[in-house]
Amino acid sequence: MQIGLVTYTPEEVAGFNPHVYYSKWADGAVFPAARKMQNDATCFCDAKAIREKPDMVAVSKNGPALRKNRRINVPFDFVCPTNPDYQTKVLNYVETLNKEDIQGVTLNLYHFPEEEFCVCPRCVELWRQSGLNWTEWRAQEITSFLKKAKRLVKGTFAVEMYPDPVLAKERFGIDFESIAELVDYFHVPLSSRDYFTNYWVDLLTRNFLKILKKPAVVELSAEMLNNEKTEALLKTVAYLSRHNLMAVLLLVHDAENARQVAKFAVNNIELREWLKRYDFAEMARIIDEWAKLY
Ligand SMILES: [Zn+2]
Repeated sequence: MQIGLVTYTPEEVAGFNPHVYYSKWADGAVFPAARKMQNDATCFCDAKAIREKPDMVAVSKNGPALRKNRRINVPFDFVCPTNPDYQTKVLNYVETLNKEDIQGVTLNLYHFPEEEFCVCPRCVELWRQSGLNWTEWRAQEITSFLKKAKRLVKGTFAVEMYPDPVLAKERFGIDFESIAELVDYFHVPLSSRDYFTNYWVDLLTRNFLKILKKPAVVELSAEMLNNEKTEALLKTVAYLSRHNLMAVLLLVHDAENARQVAKFAVNNIELREWLKRYDFAEMARIIDEWAKLY
């Protein structure tokens, strides 16, 4: 198992690989490609674009897909995924990334906001013309967008997802079966403020490994800086290291944050003995590697 990073800054950090860099954000910020890294682009969440052109937003009978709409529960503001102009904008960006020497592209938030979206006049018309049921039509729209994006990616192609292994197709139009044919791996974000309670991480990892027909990486949040939280995080990574994951990725603020996690592990003799005592060989190996660097 590899141990990698997800960051908002394109700084390489020794001891971590692969490195996923957020190059296009849900607030609308867009950055140049990070060389040699996996560049992660947010597709249909763009608060800035929606502020500028409010009619781009995905809509439902419960109102628009905006965070401020309390009749629904969405974490970001969503553009309608069938908007041809916005699709072109995202695809042009993916093409621009691939002019640089990057490792590959991961797409994020490339799906519908929820099951009842989108009922804008264009979506309703496209659905009617398709002859498909609501779930199948929405999944087909999302898969066909991913196919267009994949054609532009020279290196590794991956997707994130809302981590719902059961209802992803009905809720978001994410069809894991057909997407598996397009991607090199799936990126499963299991974010939390802390991992003191971590049974759900193990549970969702097992579920995803069972259903995904391609390799998977799991992302955990590592932005916390106190010792108790860091120890709980590292023990959670240790349990994940017993599964057949390609990598665990740690989401950090910056390179220094990543080095602090590695240094904490290296210097925590009690933790390292605990890993050896309970036979977490893979996690012990990762920390032994860090000990050569930190
Ligand atoms: Zn729509």
